[in-house]
Amino acid sequence: MSRPIDQALCRRGFLALLAAGGLLACAAPAPAAGAAPAQGQRGVLSAPLPVSKQEVALTFDDGPSPGATPQILELLESHGAHATFFVLGTELERFPGLGAEEARTGNEVADHGMTHKSLPGLSRARMLYELRATADLIQELTGKPPAFARPPYGNINQRVLKAALSLHMSVALWSTDTRDWQTPGAATIARRALQGLAPGQIVLMHDGGGPRRQTVQAVREILDALDARGYKAVTLAQLVQDAKPSVARHRPPAAAVGMALGTRTSPEV
Ligand SMILES: [Zn+2]
Repeated sequence: MSRPIDQALCRRGFLALLAAGGLLACAAPAPAAGAAPAQGQRGVLSAPLPVSKQEVALTFDDGPSPGATPQILELLESHGAHATFFVLGTELERFPGLGAEEARTGNEVADHGMTHKSLPGLSRARMLYELRATADLIQELTGKPPAFARPPYGNINQRVLKAALSLHMSVALWSTDTRDWQTPGAATIARRALQGLAPGQIVLMHDGGGPRRQTVQAVREILDALDARGYKAVTLAQLVQDAKPSVARHRPPAAAVGMALGTRTSPEV
């Protein structure tokens, strides 16, 4: 099953945010009309983080899957690189060994919900179930609760943010979308990942939800290219940690921090 993801949300590139208390943003454009201010709460990671090191975060959604996850883990390990896997609860139940392996090899396991349902339209109870059941599975398998949630399709609203926050997770989208679910060829996926390569990018790919052979091949090319350009692939948690000092020094004016909510333009994912 192919899982296209909300493009508009990504393009909007609005605010960033977050993590352990700091609500700060990046070079984000003005928030969308009617957007709610993000001040005073954790926000959404959706733009490159202000890191001074040559680091990027590769992120993989919809897994784990036996057709792609082990190969990606092997490639990461062979490059001394790490990534963040936004797992689906249903897939984690099917392939718990892969989830455990992600954590064992130093990668980050994060929450993509149980059943890949778009969260904003769900009842609070169902929304919480989607996020909490997956978080519980992650904790069980890895011994560590997830720090980040990525709502399916990138669909978010205030309720989703509140639900994630109540479960001690920050919401993380992406700054670079490879659209690998379109299976445009490994070279195209790699080119999209590396286009505009800059410190702090959060790159979206998929290790589940459909045939991912092209993605695996692209990861090989991406990691080689990152090595050649002196970049390191790190977990999202690492990227946030490395961004903090910079974020603290360059706090933008409040008006530059905003959040677009309830955006949804993508059809099926
Ligand atoms: Zn997904």
